[in-house]
Amino acid sequence: MLDAKNYVNHIFEEVKKRNAGQPEFLHAVEELLDSLEPVLEEHPEYIEENILGRITEPERVIEFRVPWTDDEGRVHVNRGYRVQFNSTIGPYKGGLRFHPSVNQSIVKFLAFEQIFKNSLTGQAIGGGKGGSDFDPKGKSDREIMRFCQSYMTELQAYIGPDRDVPAGDIGVGAREIGYLYGQYKKLNQFEPGVLTGKPVSMGGSLGRTEATGYGTVYFAEHMLQDNGQSLAGKRAVVSGSGNVAIYAMEKLIEKGAMVIACSDSSGFVVDTNGIDLDLVKEIKLTKRGRIKEYTQSRPDAKYYEGNIWSGMEETYDYAFPCATQGEINLQAAQHMLEKGVTCLAEGANMPCDADAVQLFIEKGLLYGPGKAANAGGVAVSSLEMQQNSQRTSWTFEDVDTQLQHIMKDIYQKAKETAKKYGKEGNLLQGANIAGFVRVADAMIRQGVI
Ligand code: NDP
Repeated sequence: MLDAKNYVNHIFEEVKKRNAGQPEFLHAVEELLDSLEPVLEEHPEYIEENILGRITEPERVIEFRVPWTDDEGRVHVNRGYRVQFNSTIGPYKGGLRFHPSVNQSIVKFLAFEQIFKNSLTGQAIGGGKGGSDFDPKGKSDREIMRFCQSYMTELQAYIGPDRDVPAGDIGVGAREIGYLYGQYKKLNQFEPGVLTGKPVSMGGSLGRTEATGYGTVYFAEHMLQDNGQSLAGKRAVVSGSGNVAIYAMEKLIEKGAMVIACSDSSGFVVDTNGIDLDLVKEIKLTKRGRIKEYTQSRPDAKYYEGNIWSGMEETYDYAFPCATQGEINLQAAQHMLEKGVTCLAEGANMPCDADAVQLFIEKGLLYGPGKAANAGGVAVSSLEMQQNSQRTSWTFEDVDTQLQHIMKDIYQKAKETAKKYGKEGNLLQGANIAGFVRVADAMIRQGVI
């Protein structure tokens, strides 16, 4: 039998061969494998049972054609995906992303991360993710509706409340989930538990919209408190101005921090008097506009094109990347440290590349990895599934209280697991090991299937 180090190397070589040309997926796998040596040394059964060989191969990858008609009657074709990665501890669970950059590598990386994130929540949910290279920007409501109907016409054959329960992600919010659910119901039956992130009027959970952003801030607060620091009175920067970013900003402001900048994919606004969140909500949620419109109402604020992390000239204390993967490379990370950043919590999935993460850990920055820090969204999706099964609905306060408990529990698990394996303070390694062990143990008990 190979020792832990050689086993990990062997698996990564195999994964590279089998997934050539999928950089995002390979990055996610490498990041997990890099953490696992200590646990493999302690548990040779994971090597004997070839758990890594099995866990890095999706149970199923579904790709399909999504034809739809625009308002002028022209016919378009997009590609749809659903990756059902691992169902060991529960039905596949993970969002749908509609963005032109979506491809198999991105959906597989997101589904892979989701396995360990979902495991960390302590809920009975497996890992999956899906989406399409469809670009919702500039499309009319009717075009979005026709696209969602076509997408669901194919997807409905593979999902179900005990089988696979999609939710939202980039480009998929309550509007899209409403149309997707409508089509599912037309083709099947009334079954709200088949999707989460639904509007509250049709079986959605109070607190789901806020959960990822709020949860990321709760996680950051635990990191800070454990190190004798707090959010109050500190300057924070948040990337993005979508679902996760907006509710991270809301909670940061509520906790007494001053958010001085946020962004979208074109550029970023800096408002040293503190970002006016109502204005951001009006621009991004009500008008579906661009963040540069912010300066029309707040002339003291400044708009810059480009990447917020390498472009910020102001100093600030805490960073919350909440836009997308690969926002922060080594050069941006160095720039952030020069600007005074001491704590970073990932609201987005894999926003920092491997070199950036390594630098943050070396320099002792408090680093909250996405699969722990942004797990609040999927945790509340799981609470939505529970409410749907019971045909009941809980209050916002009930859901938010449960979210706070879950985030505290995830933080403690990551922290204690890191300590147990001699990596005190390394929450990435702690989260990776804790998430992995629960799934690996259950895989062994279920046999080679
Ligand atoms: P939204 O679509 O609501 O918002 C995405 C935001 O990121 C927008 O401001 C968008 O700008 C910006 N963005 C998208 N692509 C890029 C890019 N290539 N460069 C710079 N900015 C970009 O998505 P969410 O807020 O739901 O998701 C944000 C992140 O959080 C994703 O990584 C997602 O996987 C992760 N996440 C989301 C969860 C959820 O519950 N929604 C749960 C856990 C993680 P623009 O408007 O210009 O496109």
